[in-house]
Amino acid sequence: MSSELKAAPRRRRKPPVFQTIPATVIGSEWITPRMVRLKIHSDRMAGFVHESDPDQFVTVIFPRPGQELIELAPDFNWDYFYGLPDTDRPQARNYTVRRFDLAAGTIDVDVLVHGGPGLGEHWAINVKPGAPVYLWGPRIAYNPFPNATFFLLFCDECAVPAAAAIIDSLPADARGHLVAEVKNEAAIPPMPVRHGITVDWVFSDDVEPGESDRLAGAVQQVPVPNGELVYAWGGGEMKAMRHAGRHLRKHWGLGTSSISATGYWRVGQSNED
Ligand SMILES: Cc1cc2nc3c(=O)[nH]c(=O)nc-3n(C[C@H](O)[C@H](O)[C@H](O)COP(=O)(O)OP(=O)(O)OC[C@H]3O[C@@H](n4cnc5c(N)ncnc54)[C@H](O)[C@@H]3O)c2cc1C
Repeated sequence: MSSELKAAPRRRRKPPVFQTIPATVIGSEWITPRMVRLKIHSDRMAGFVHESDPDQFVTVIFPRPGQELIELAPDFNWDYFYGLPDTDRPQARNYTVRRFDLAAGTIDVDVLVHGGPGLGEHWAINVKPGAPVYLWGPRIAYNPFPNATFFLLFCDECAVPAAAAIIDSLPADARGHLVAEVKNEAAIPPMPVRHGITVDWVFSDDVEPGESDRLAGAVQQVPVPNGELVYAWGGGEMKAMRHAGRHLRKHWGLGTSSISATGYWRVGQSNED
């Protein structure tokens, strides 16, 4: 990487204002044998989703199996939420806004059926059109320099929707490299194409995700680009994100502000814990 390339300041963001909005699941379709796409509608979606952020994620609040969704005040807080008795307290999981249509008031979220067993995946498989949810957020993790010239994206299967949303937002001549770990070839979802972005799929096969170093190992195989201002984004299992981030700091010479590597989940730990 050229030391003469300097990152331009990022867009100044207003302090985030998080909202809680009532919404309804209006449809679902399998986009791979392991990933179900839910379409969610709200009359308040246009004032909720940030039009300018390609990778944003929402916390979807949904009932446990056999439970009715209780009413939440728009200004509820998480202390109140986690103080509710189990019999009342819904579940809350983070999912990426894969795409949105603000005129129609809809977002799509792609939920990985990882076989955990998690209440999030269980809900996504079984939810029927008309089911009520709340959405809280949205938040972002991807925040590149405006003059970044090379995008390194690395992720496991549950963050492939985020990688796809990011690639959707990049110009046709964008340069970069995506390394993504999925179970097998059938688990590769439809992806946007940018000819300057090399894509490497890594298959976990019969090894549980997060139990191998395959993703971080594949990131180590990516040639260090010359003369590029690199921005690196990653999403996936906590340990894999740490390993890949360490490699990029040590061998690519990236500073921490050039890397957004987010732990999406942790082996053996439910998001509820
Ligand atoms: C910023 C952000 C964006 C995210 N976007 C998406 C998205 O678009 N789609 C999506 O599917 N997920 C996404 N996730 C990840 C998702 O929130 C977690 O995987 C969540 O734990 C799933 O909840 P669950 O109820 O299915 O499993 P949990 O109840 O949380 O966990 C149950 C068991 O399953 C294991 N487990 C959890 N997640 C995974 C996984 N991904 N792979 C393998 N094992 C797992 C746990 O270690 C635990 O043992 C995102 C997370 C973050 C932080």
